[in-house]
Amino acid sequence: MTDGAAIREPSFRDSVNLMFNRAVALMDLSPGLEEKIRVCNATYTVRFGVRLRGQIHTFTGYRSVHSEHMEPVKGGIRFATNVNQDEVEALAALMTFKCALVETPFGGSKGGLCIDPRAWEEHELEQITRRFAYELAKRDLINPSQNVPAPDMGTGEREMAWIADQYRRMNTTDINANACVTGKPLHAGGIAGRVEATGRGVQYALREFFRHPEDVAMARLSGKLDGKSVIVQGLGNVGFHAASFLRGEDGAKITGIIERDGALYDEDGLDVDAVRAWIDKHGGVSGFPDATYSKDGSAVLESPCDILIPAALEGVINLNNVTRIQAKLIIEAANGPITAGADEYLRKQGVVVIPDMYANAGGVTVSYFEWVKNLSHIRFGRMQRRQEEARHQLVVDELERLDHYLGDAWSMSPNFKTKYLRGADELELVRSGLDDTMRTAYQSMREVWHAREDVTDLRVAAYLVSIDRVASSYRAMGL
Ligand code: GLU
Repeated sequence: MTDGAAIREPSFRDSVNLMFNRAVALMDLSPGLEEKIRVCNATYTVRFGVRLRGQIHTFTGYRSVHSEHMEPVKGGIRFATNVNQDEVEALAALMTFKCALVETPFGGSKGGLCIDPRAWEEHELEQITRRFAYELAKRDLINPSQNVPAPDMGTGEREMAWIADQYRRMNTTDINANACVTGKPLHAGGIAGRVEATGRGVQYALREFFRHPEDVAMARLSGKLDGKSVIVQGLGNVGFHAASFLRGEDGAKITGIIERDGALYDEDGLDVDAVRAWIDKHGGVSGFPDATYSKDGSAVLESPCDILIPAALEGVINLNNVTRIQAKLIIEAANGPITAGADEYLRKQGVVVIPDMYANAGGVTVSYFEWVKNLSHIRFGRMQRRQEEARHQLVVDELERLDHYLGDAWSMSPNFKTKYLRGADELELVRSGLDDTMRTAYQSMREVWHAREDVTDLRVAAYLVSIDRVASSYRAMGL
């Protein structure tokens, strides 16, 4: 754990297994069931060719299904050059536990394509994505009732729209075709608030944590989120939204941002939205005015702060740097940012870690709302609104009877009646549903954390809750 040769650690998949094993050691599962839950059911590898720029390029992609205790199975598709089978299997396993923890009725899956999305033009990427989608869909690895992908690193609304369209072309009579993938643009069957969802979930998770002074004290912190110093590693979709909401709505101070090309630091707090705009314009954080820039991000990652939010890659906090991490609370906005070895060290040091399977579950939670919306073929919340409308109608009838008293006031406000009748809009419903989910899931973890002597951290608590739920599903199926 000193400078010099890098310490080799177990693979990501092994790291997840180590964490899983630590939890099942505290459970009373039959060895057969334990093994059934641990292993990945299947991983499909596809190599397909696409003719581009005058020659055939071969791409390698994966879709791994970890557990089918509930179907469809769910999980994102990532586009990155280092995608491999070990990684997608680890991520698929995390999806199983994540979905169980937040009670979205899905099994776990994950996909990936080895590609540098920035190396291709948009129309080329579309061709590649459609072909990958075709390969997966023809094996039911994209299907509204069996396997429903979503965005992940390197993919977003655009790719999801291409995937949905590809599936639709292959299944023209499937009335539920739109539900084959989530994270679609709003005007192509998506739902309000899906883009911000994972970052929003991180914010709600922190808000819930800070509602419990006992838990805050475990992290050697006190008080509220207001004024806490926060360092964010990765200002992509998740890191950006989380940081922007925490700063804008909770009064947190974003003192450090670590990006691909270096890091920014400002003790008084960085303007996250301005940094994001700078990155969009200049391709990186370098040159951003009003902050100290360092080319080597590790100095900022290892700076003192109240809260550290790793929001990009797996394994960024590992045995090579963990001894220098000074944060009191770490919230894993990314999947697997702390290796099993580093996790053990942090635990011994009393650093509180809010685990990935809970912290970044906002994405799949809102994906669930989108899937339900697609299957119900009705705008999310519209049914609830109908009930509200019926209640409001009684009041409006009464108001109309009084119309002549209202006279001009009523006609001066022609939207009054419609606004009054509209009730909550979709975004509001999505946010409140997400907030509710994050609170409930935190409480289920917290209960185990505080009730059991042998449970000393939130990660094991999260695994205990979710493995127990997966085991119950398998038992109910007669396994
Ligand atoms: N890729 C996201 C995750 O890792 C979202 C998955 C989904 O919405 O299905 O949780």
